[in-house]
Amino acid sequence: MSTSRRQFIKVSALGAGGVAVATSAYGFSDGFMSLFEERDNSPKKFKRTPTYCEVCFWKCAAWTHVDEQGSVVKLIGNDDDPQCNGRLCPRGTGGVGMYNDTDRLKTPLIRVAGVDGQLDTFRKATWEEALDLVAFKMNEIKEKYGPESFSLLKHGSSGSHFEHLFKAYGSDTIGEPAYAQCRGPRETGFSTTFGNWVGSPEPTDIRDTKCMVMIGSHIGENMHNTQVQELADSIDNDVTLITVDPRASTVASKSKYWLPIKPATDMALLLAWMNVIIYEELYDKAYIEKYTLGFEELKEHVRGFTPEWAYGITTIEPEIIRKTAREMGQAAPAVIIHPGRHVTWYGDDSQRERAMAMLNGLLGSWGKRGGFYLKEKLKIPKFPHPPYPHPKWGWEELGEKFPLAQMGLTNEIINASIPDRAGEHEVKAWFISGTNLINTIPDTYLTEQALDSLEFVVVCDTMPMEITGYADVILPECTYLERYDTIRSMTGREPSIALRMPAVKPKYDSKPSWWMAKQIGERLGLGAYFDYNDFADVLDWQLQQVGSSLEEMQRIGVKKYPRTSGPLYFENGEDFEFGTSSGKIELYSAELEELGFDPMPKFTAHPEPEDGFYRLIYGRAPMHTFSRTSNNPNLSDLKDENKVWVNPRVAKLWDLKNDQEVFLENQDGVVSQFPIKVRITERIRWDSVYMVHGFGHNNKNLTRAHGRGASDTRLITNVMMDPQMGGTGMRGNFVTFITDKNLVES
Ligand code: SF4
Repeated sequence: MSTSRRQFIKVSALGAGGVAVATSAYGFSDGFMSLFEERDNSPKKFKRTPTYCEVCFWKCAAWTHVDEQGSVVKLIGNDDDPQCNGRLCPRGTGGVGMYNDTDRLKTPLIRVAGVDGQLDTFRKATWEEALDLVAFKMNEIKEKYGPESFSLLKHGSSGSHFEHLFKAYGSDTIGEPAYAQCRGPRETGFSTTFGNWVGSPEPTDIRDTKCMVMIGSHIGENMHNTQVQELADSIDNDVTLITVDPRASTVASKSKYWLPIKPATDMALLLAWMNVIIYEELYDKAYIEKYTLGFEELKEHVRGFTPEWAYGITTIEPEIIRKTAREMGQAAPAVIIHPGRHVTWYGDDSQRERAMAMLNGLLGSWGKRGGFYLKEKLKIPKFPHPPYPHPKWGWEELGEKFPLAQMGLTNEIINASIPDRAGEHEVKAWFISGTNLINTIPDTYLTEQALDSLEFVVVCDTMPMEITGYADVILPECTYLERYDTIRSMTGREPSIALRMPAVKPKYDSKPSWWMAKQIGERLGLGAYFDYNDFADVLDWQLQQVGSSLEEMQRIGVKKYPRTSGPLYFENGEDFEFGTSSGKIELYSAELEELGFDPMPKFTAHPEPEDGFYRLIYGRAPMHTFSRTSNNPNLSDLKDENKVWVNPRVAKLWDLKNDQEVFLENQDGVVSQFPIKVRITERIRWDSVYMVHGFGHNNKNLTRAHGRGASDTRLITNVMMDPQMGGTGMRGNFVTFITDKNLVES
């Protein structure tokens, strides 16, 4: 096995070539609701089993329909599920494609070192061989360096099974990109203000809001089911939408105000809005008096941040800043400054999110109808197991220079896997579950350097994603339609649970992750942590503890529970304690001050593109989830490549034509691996370009996605770290065009 140079190798020699099965076209129109599933009322007989969707992490509950021949034919939303209200989004309906994808990983694979300078290869292995090897290496790493040196990097439902394994083994060196590469800064910004994480799903009371502000948040392209449904309802109820985005997103087209802000200046707009709301007395005085701390300090702080001051920075006219602030003030408290999701932009993201939280605080929207409701969740008891051992070090120590980090930072785990000058590195091995780090973590070079240095790498996935090419052992996971998983206990207006169970047997030689975790655990002598025969036993025991059973949930799929924590909203004047140390909404944060950070947010100017370069902005398409769905036969049928959006003024300057193929080169000389087609549109500012994330796959085993479009992740080599929680700001990268293919080295 190669340990000196873990070069990417293809698994192609062993996987059968795939044939695309294009099974559906959704034919959606411009309206939001037309994006959702159509019901099939045909009289055919199907067996239906409950599941919850894994195409994204919204986890909508659904019924899997299997025909008399045993084929999975369709997925339909569960009517009783408050997370989807009986309707799946187009991606969710396309979950059938995950099951049918002939490119799936089919059998365990083990890396074979190349001899005489030859490249490494993979060989097919039995499950016994693959699991024995993983357990052997886990024992070896534990003996040589301690279990903490084996890190788990995860995403999705499977991660929880391996998290249990790793904690039993003695390692909490665990990280997931959903934190440091996505939502972490907003959780810090909102918790330093309100004392609570926003969490997922966000407790935004969109259905009853009168005004919603979206800053770089593109609901509708970011297809989070209930939010989109509620937004459609609120549009029918004449909500005032204010969209701040350098790009005219789908939701911008539905908005009363589209503010095409100069990128990287959002903080100036937020401070100016606070200035107007305070100095025009648009805030709720009684709410501010009773529930907030530091109002006078904030008033003084924003005194100079007038709309005229912000105009010179943001390019948004003062009158528009005033008008939009007044719209918010008139709608308050039924107003939402949406926290967004992918918020790792410029490195001061926790402070930007804090400014958004403070604006919500000023408008009195927390705990109010049409603002943020008070969420609730049912606690599912843990299946009994011995206590976990205490690791000597783990994610907290690796991220200690970021005092407000509350989860493992993937980027710090990567850094700790790269040898220092003395050749030392703390992390020696990775177990990667359900996350394609190569297309997820910015500065791919660092990730590859870390992979090069590791002694052992395991990848568990359903698909031959790029990261599998760096593995020593590949464990093929069956899809969510073929397995039991943990009970989905959802936070919401009312608590609810949902069951995922297999609708069909796993295809090929794939297995569920709970089974893999148990098998590895038993080989490590940790059988007491996996004291059951089948995961169904665990689920039945847990369900019995919350007044249900496996039999009941197999029948109904979703169960709702009454609230026990009180009403959805609190009344003005009522005593209400926020989760901060003062029990109030902290407009001035003594905690931040003590840690050496600004107690109230300030505007910082960020680098600008040089002549001939444009800021790279990336986002989502409604039919795809990151890079994980771009090979899905149903979903790639809807969109099989990304394009680079270019303003007509820029297109003229470069003499670009629609659908012309170009390469993109970033400020550090990194060139996209594949060409990308140009889309000329007024919908993007002249100083920026835009592309949908998740394309440009270079693994030929992804037969539909290989070479289609460009990868934004490859072009993100400048990372601006958030000093509070370690998020990786990725919007400080600039690209230019290479129009002559001959100038690109192959
Ligand atoms: Fe699935 Fe769509 Fe729900 Fe995500 S929002 S879980 S993709 S149905």
